[in-house]
Amino acid sequence: MDSRDPHQQRHAEIQAENQALRQQLENILREARNNELKMRRFEQLEHKLIATRSLLELVRLLLGDYKAAFGIDCVALSLLDRDHEASRMLDAELGMDGRPVQGLHLLQSDAPLRDLHPDPALKPWLGPFKASQHDKLFLGQEQAANMASLALLPLSRHGELIGSLHFGSVDAQRYDAQSGTALLERLAAIVSVCLDSTLNQERLKLAGLTDALTGVHNRRYFEHRCLIEIAQARRYRHDLACLFLDLDRFKAINDRYGHQAGDAVLRAVGHNIQTQLRAGDTIARFGGEEFVVLLPQAPAQHARDIAERIRAGIAGRPFSLPCGEVITASVSIGLAMLPAERIQVEAQSLAEQLLKAADQALYQAKTEGRNRVVFNAT
Ligand code: GH3
Ligand code: MG
Ligand code: MG
Repeated sequence: MDSRDPHQQRHAEIQAENQALRQQLENILREARNNELKMRRFEQLEHKLIATRSLLELVRLLLGDYKAAFGIDCVALSLLDRDHEASRMLDAELGMDGRPVQGLHLLQSDAPLRDLHPDPALKPWLGPFKASQHDKLFLGQEQAANMASLALLPLSRHGELIGSLHFGSVDAQRYDAQSGTALLERLAAIVSVCLDSTLNQERLKLAGLTDALTGVHNRRYFEHRCLIEIAQARRYRHDLACLFLDLDRFKAINDRYGHQAGDAVLRAVGHNIQTQLRAGDTIARFGGEEFVVLLPQAPAQHARDIAERIRAGIAGRPFSLPCGEVITASVSIGLAMLPAERIQVEAQSLAEQLLKAADQALYQAKTEGRNRVVFNAT
């Protein structure tokens, strides 16, 4: 039996209760402060997301910065990329020796997205990680084998799935069906809008660098790209070959079959050249009926072989015109190499030299009878 009087006992009880309440209050305050911090970090990231200017930047922000700021064990992003548009944008930005971005998966069909998000309401899904269903999501990531819980955020525009953002945790409680999803829903909405707008921005950028008639790059892009390739060739002491191509007696095709037929030939020639090139090569329409090609890391003999293959490919393949006529066309090609003594010279003036040398070779090819490749060895 307690020997204290009831009064003292009551006092002790109240004190204990008080302490418990104070503890509770402290916990609540701590949680509120944590939440506030979390919210602030979230808002900072939101601002960064909205400010991204390229797809690569957006992807890196989600797979890198976001992961670090919230201490998430694994993050992955799947994007629907039916016509390889996103993949081309990333390639262009990463450059030739860019490594793929870990955690990014580009999908050619939306079937995997629909498997992950069967609910048409497109709400985030939180729950236990199931190896049988989810083992591919974080492939190659350090903690992938230790996943215990998972959040799957559908990314959508106008009701269509365009991607899915995945967070994985080694903590089974971090993402469970009972947790609120308001913040994650908001994140998914923002990422969806940002993705859409970045893709549109990049499409516009590409449109400004593409020749509308042939679909290959335009001269502006070529001039920009040429400086990049020269810098790379200098840095790594690589070869860089430049081809200048001009259609032979093209005016006669226009005069005889009309401008539209001429346009169709230009398109076909552009396409024809492109099929002979590797992924890191550049083709552009320089103007009128002239194309330029850059072949990085191609020694002279190799570049000559490619030029010869392009020439033979065009001369040996008759074109069907929209009017039904079948005609043959040919190109003359001038080839020049970036000079070996290139270190002291400015990239801009090297670019001009290279193009001029290729143009001189082209002129020679014309005067020697057309439909041929001339190499300017100087
Ligand atoms: P050469 O073998 O000496 O190069 O003869 P050519 O007839 O090809 O050269 P010329 O410079 O005399 O004529 C080029 C022609 O290309 C004239 C121009 O009308 C035509 N051309 C330029 N741009 C376009 C275009 O976008 N579409 C069409 N259809 N024709 C074009
Ligand atoms: Mg010309
Ligand atoms: Mg011509």
